[in-house]
Amino acid sequence: MAAAPAGEVWLTLDADLLARALREAPLLQPLEAGETGEILLVRAPVSFVDTLAAVVHRELGRCGGFVAHASLEAGRVQLERLEQTRAAPREERSEGVAAFTVDQPGWAALLADGVSESELLATMTTVSTSFVNRYHAHPSGSAAATWIFDRWSALAAGRPEAVVELLEHADTPQPSVRLTIPGTRFPEQIVLLGGHQDSTVSGCFFDPGCVAPGADDDASGIATLTEVARLALASGFQPQRTVQLVAYAAEEVGLIGSSELAEAYLDAGAEVVGVLQVDMTGYPGSAEDIVLISDYTDSALNDFLVGLLETYQPGLTWTTDECGYACSDHAPWHLRGYPAAFAFEARFGQHNPEIHSADDTVATLDDSAAHAAKFTRLAAAFLAEAALVDPGVLFADGFERGTASAWSPPTD
Ligand SMILES: [Zn+2]
Repeated sequence: MAAAPAGEVWLTLDADLLARALREAPLLQPLEAGETGEILLVRAPVSFVDTLAAVVHRELGRCGGFVAHASLEAGRVQLERLEQTRAAPREERSEGVAAFTVDQPGWAALLADGVSESELLATMTTVSTSFVNRYHAHPSGSAAATWIFDRWSALAAGRPEAVVELLEHADTPQPSVRLTIPGTRFPEQIVLLGGHQDSTVSGCFFDPGCVAPGADDDASGIATLTEVARLALASGFQPQRTVQLVAYAAEEVGLIGSSELAEAYLDAGAEVVGVLQVDMTGYPGSAEDIVLISDYTDSALNDFLVGLLETYQPGLTWTTDECGYACSDHAPWHLRGYPAAFAFEARFGQHNPEIHSADDTVATLDDSAAHAAKFTRLAAAFLAEAALVDPGVLFADGFERGTASAWSPPTD
């Protein structure tokens, strides 16, 4: 890890995970605990990250579970934020957060109905087979970032107002990729959709021969973002709030990319009004189609997602589940007071059993993007509804189209 040239790193993690990991590897230094004692701050060798990821995967059957921090101070700030978030829900801490409504059937249906399973499958296949190890410190991890940058840049070629950037980080060589479509009316208000581009396989992180295809975790999320970008840019959709799509660096080693970005937004006073995370959308492991994560997320934003599902995909079923501390990139936003949500492929324990292995391939998904398409339609509807403010602002030509059956795509 670039942040720790001395071979050490600060981590926050929950007490249960630490107890399990300590059976296998020693710590460098005793720990500090937050007020509740549930989340702990430790200094550990970088190799401990490997142990943690393996234990989370093998014993807890999930991803994430810990956050890497550049310094002791940053780790202490994280503990303080955890206490603040527990003490006061977002609704009590933040003024002016957008009250989203489901009243843009024109654009939401147009974008959601345009979702192509073949486009999704193509992106998942390319990312997982052309870049078989996207570990954040591996050269092909940065090559994957370049591929996403090039792909999104091509999609934005006809939209001069759209900006695609490679964002360098302090604590990983892997850049994040960000697409921005500026808002026409409230450009300072940001609607952000994210997923992580890196991959990992337990036990062989630093081995150049390591195969970590990560087709589901999380090439599926990158495919969802790419398809939403394609639809929004090609359709002439003009958001009234600013829209940003982010392919995060270095999620698997402690949410490094999303933590640095969320911190930078907070430092800049950015007004992020809604964050949707897509991390693993490909494997239909549960009876329900979509699982909304209810811990470390915003309840009002989750209600909004339910409204989107009931309106635009009424045939789907959904439920809720918890994923624990820092299970994906929504958490850094949530802990900084930004409303965040996370839609997941299955109940925990019923999700793709092949993640973090060489068998996380599109073959494990039966070479199908049918499940991922449900999440992509949700993400497309989220983008349209969250980024448009005025009810009835429908199409780029300014005309409303009445009812759904009469809508057709804009021609220009
Ligand atoms: Zn993941």
